[in-house]
Amino acid sequence: MHKLGAHLSISGRYEKAIESIENIGGNCLQIFSASPRQWQFAHPSQKQIETFVKAKKEFTINPVYFHASYLINLGFDNGVGKVSVRNLINEFNLSKKMQVRGSIVHLGSLKREKKTLIEDEAYYDLIENIKQILKNTPEDVLFIIENAGTNKLGKTLNEIALIINSVDDDRLRVCLDTCHLHAAGYNLTTYKDFEEFLSTFDSLIGLEKLELVHMNDSRDLLGSFRDRHENIGKGNIAIEVFKNFLNNPKTKHLPFIIETPGFDDKGPDKENLDILKGLIS
Ligand SMILES: [Zn+2]
Repeated sequence: MHKLGAHLSISGRYEKAIESIENIGGNCLQIFSASPRQWQFAHPSQKQIETFVKAKKEFTINPVYFHASYLINLGFDNGVGKVSVRNLINEFNLSKKMQVRGSIVHLGSLKREKKTLIEDEAYYDLIENIKQILKNTPEDVLFIIENAGTNKLGKTLNEIALIINSVDDDRLRVCLDTCHLHAAGYNLTTYKDFEEFLSTFDSLIGLEKLELVHMNDSRDLLGSFRDRHENIGKGNIAIEVFKNFLNNPKTKHLPFIIETPGFDDKGPDKENLDILKGLIS
């Protein structure tokens, strides 16, 4: 059976998202540990943690991921870099307690534009910060790098490969977002395009490090470097791209998580998940 899920709101209690994903027909889940637009550090009580773990088990929702705060920027050695490290260490420790598989992280941006990653001093801060987080957190919690769709760290497979190979730790994984791939100019419409992309991923990073896929359509054009999600089938990404991910033997086993606006604009919904289910052959 395919693993299909959504990013859902916890609305003040974590187990709420477990009930919601069950209601819209998903079997895996992504949540924020705390408000993603302010520097909040999640500190649920032991009781709250237990209630969540119980609900997760009861409804067999697996895996569950955290999506890290939008404020995270690991390309700095001070200020925001330091808070980002502390925030992720807190979230990774919570992951272990809540049986969450790991955090999906947008790495942040370079200090200066128009330079390649390796030439920028941000690169060295970034690698150091990731190592710090891994060193100070439980060994079985994953650090999952999400590819960027805008001009930020990790917009190409080459950049992600450079980072992963520099850190060199088994706990680093990759989340690919279809909207971000499209924004960064990757066209995965045909079988051949998709196979070539997977073989590039395998040679640069290793397919075993591909942890999950975010399934989002896009309101913008290929290579636009704009990141505006759309409901599946309603945007500019060919439906074949979603079919490729869902049906290729190298990717069909992965968790697929939607972050779509929803057909009633209330966030990821049953309708988007049902469209994806209909694309499985
Ligand atoms: Zn995403």
